[in-house]
Amino acid sequence: MSMQNPVFIPGPTNIPEEVRKACDMPTLDHRSPKFANVFKPAVAGVRRVLNMAEGEVILLPSTGTGGWEAALTNTLSSGNKVLAARFGMFSHRWIDMCQRHGLDMQIIEAPWGEGAPLAAIEAALRADSAHEIKAVLATHNETATGVKSDIAGIRRALDTTGHPAMLFVDGVSSIGSMPFDMAGWGVDIAVAGSQKGFMLPAGLAILGVSPKALAAMEHATLPRTFFDFRDMTKAYAVGGFPYTPPVGLIAGLAKSIELLEEEGLDAVYARHARFAEATRRAVAAWGMRPCAATPDLYSATVTAVVVPEGCNGTDLVSLAASKYGMAFGVGLGEVAGKVFRIGHLGMLTDAMLLSGLAVAEMCMADLGWDVRLGSGVAVAQDYLRQSHGAPLAAAA
Ligand SMILES: *Cc1c(COP(=O)(O)O)cnc(C)c1O
Repeated sequence: MSMQNPVFIPGPTNIPEEVRKACDMPTLDHRSPKFANVFKPAVAGVRRVLNMAEGEVILLPSTGTGGWEAALTNTLSSGNKVLAARFGMFSHRWIDMCQRHGLDMQIIEAPWGEGAPLAAIEAALRADSAHEIKAVLATHNETATGVKSDIAGIRRALDTTGHPAMLFVDGVSSIGSMPFDMAGWGVDIAVAGSQKGFMLPAGLAILGVSPKALAAMEHATLPRTFFDFRDMTKAYAVGGFPYTPPVGLIAGLAKSIELLEEEGLDAVYARHARFAEATRRAVAAWGMRPCAATPDLYSATVTAVVVPEGCNGTDLVSLAASKYGMAFGVGLGEVAGKVFRIGHLGMLTDAMLLSGLAVAEMCMADLGWDVRLGSGVAVAQDYLRQSHGAPLAAAA
């Protein structure tokens, strides 16, 4: 018997049945015109989710990490200067990748739990009067700490300093779950992956690329072949792919976007914000706090819960998996053991979320933490009841 709980890791996320079925398709000759019927709706859907006015959508058989690499190697050359802030495991890993590619990194260190520091970014751009910085990297949603950064603010910093650097945004754990405005924020490359907000199995890197970034690829000399945007765009123009595409995943992507749009993207974003708020209320009732330093930084897709002194977040994650068959996220890097993470993104209902909060509480009780069973669940129930759609909210 298959007895499957929902997962509460911040990716991969729960897969809707309709999406699983859409991925499961007979072999299709990707060189036949039939492929375009699968490919085109997926690409068009991504444009809408990213809010792209122009440029190209690139789908690569890869994951978010491959999307980072594709962004760098298609637009930059060895020794190019790149500005990035480091405030968590994912911002760190992208910086590490840049260094391994021989890019000249200007790194702004910020405490884990903070977001991209706008004033320091603006100061760094202003100081670079020779315009040596070719790209600014930003992690929209730092999945390690549950921190959202202000991408519009980074765009303002670029504009007010008149700096021509490209803006590359890691939206792997935000796109499809939190508002994203590629056109409005002037993002040159947005990177997403299939297994988070898009509720698919892992296997696709999903990128939005601006005309400016497409122009940069003509001069970029970092080595790339499998991820070369030039091959991709040439093949796309004739409805094809430069090599064998993961057709099932691409079909699933079109279905996933259909589901998101059926619910309405604004409703999807509101649902995520609501689940995040319910989770934080439970966290407060447990006498704990989110790792994100201030409310403006709270992520709508993942809450990193700071556990009390003397407790170990990894113990809770291990126990939840071994005893209750439920997956939460461990703390990574600097916050290993100090936090555990509740992913609340993708296909999730009120009832599913409550089951996760209830199991987290059972684990806390099992571990002898000073938390009363039901305390977090009760405040989450209350909030979910009150905030469930207009009629109930009006009656409250
Ligand atoms: C998950 C994640 C990644 C890495 O993506 P993979 O698909 O695991 O390669 C990168 N950035 C962020 C913010 C993520 O949450």
